[in-house]
Amino acid sequence: MRGRLGEVVVDLSAVAGNVRTVAGVARTGVMAVVKADGFGHGAESVARAAIGAGAGWLGVTSSTEALVLRSAGIRVPMLSWLHRPDEDFTALIAERVDVAVSTLTHLHAVAAAAARLGAPAIVQLKADIGLSRNGAGGDDWPELVAWARKYEVEGGVRVRGVWSHLTGADVPGQPGLAGQSATFREALRVARDAGLTPELVHLANSAAALSAPQTRYDLCRIGLALYGVDPFDPTGPGRFGLRPAMTLRTSVVNVKRVPAGTGVSYGPDHVTDRATTLALIPLGYADGLSRTCEGRASVWLAGRRCPIVGRIAMDQCVVDAGDLPVALGDPVVVFGGEGGEASGGGDPSGGGGVPSVGEWARWAGTNPHEVMTGIGARVARVHLHGER
Ligand SMILES: *Cc1c(COP(=O)(O)O)cnc(C)c1O
Repeated sequence: MRGRLGEVVVDLSAVAGNVRTVAGVARTGVMAVVKADGFGHGAESVARAAIGAGAGWLGVTSSTEALVLRSAGIRVPMLSWLHRPDEDFTALIAERVDVAVSTLTHLHAVAAAAARLGAPAIVQLKADIGLSRNGAGGDDWPELVAWARKYEVEGGVRVRGVWSHLTGADVPGQPGLAGQSATFREALRVARDAGLTPELVHLANSAAALSAPQTRYDLCRIGLALYGVDPFDPTGPGRFGLRPAMTLRTSVVNVKRVPAGTGVSYGPDHVTDRATTLALIPLGYADGLSRTCEGRASVWLAGRRCPIVGRIAMDQCVVDAGDLPVALGDPVVVFGGEGGEASGGGDPSGGGGVPSVGEWARWAGTNPHEVMTGIGARVARVHLHGER
């Protein structure tokens, strides 16, 4: 680890395999969602791996994210979907990034930017079918569609896509899915009746791509599945053969044998109930190990799962290694599958294998997305099996 306190190791062959897996199940095009620095994996590397595996589109949140990828030389079709109303859209248009449009204000701003530039803007209109976030719903949708058609006839704007986002296709039984699908079909009908001819219709995220055929249309926008986490079984291998791409690893920086009755970390919240070996690891909540995991989380050390004990501090936390032979510098896998010496799954003692990102999410009371995007910037990203 070359002097680093912690590393995220990203297996880009897993990312590539996950694109093929989802495309095989959904039988549609794939938009690799690389917002938030590729869910913490490194947007550019993930984008290249996903494109190499056949993803035809990239999805990002903002113009900042889109333009960073363009300046890295990534030219594939890209959709950016969250913008200030007063944003200057000229850079996105000039760089041929499709602009998702949800309000009339944004549409007018995009059209004005296209006119300034003398080049048409390519937009994808977003309908609100139940999330009540972005997208136009109710009477706003026909109005947005009518204006978009007007700009299209005038030549300043081309409506390439109509799309939306579901409220939660990963919820068992998928309540609301039928109603939202119907609302989406109706929005699409309104758009077509207004004269629009979107060649790209998309609705599904990872969970819908894998489980809800009526949501697939032309393209599935995948985040979680791209990174190898099964939306229906985030703590297990799942049934689709997705492979987690991210491993968070570190090493032991201090070891001490302590007697029963020893306080550990701030408070102390934890006092040893027996003589044991404590191993200090140099990752804390600033690195993404949430304080809320106290009393629940484990890491992989010396071929076993060992609990983190006491409070997780900003930069470090303490692992109870029991009577395991632990030495300074020993490798520790916080979660993931690429643990080098430590990888290889099952614990002979029956305590489970290397913790998964889904388990960390459960321990923190959150979702795997938040764990992955919460890994701090000072943790280096190392990419394996990339194209260069
Ligand atoms: C983040 C995001 C996705 C990816 O969702 P997953 O559930 O992680 O697959 C898809 N679409 C939109 C609009 C998003 O913001």
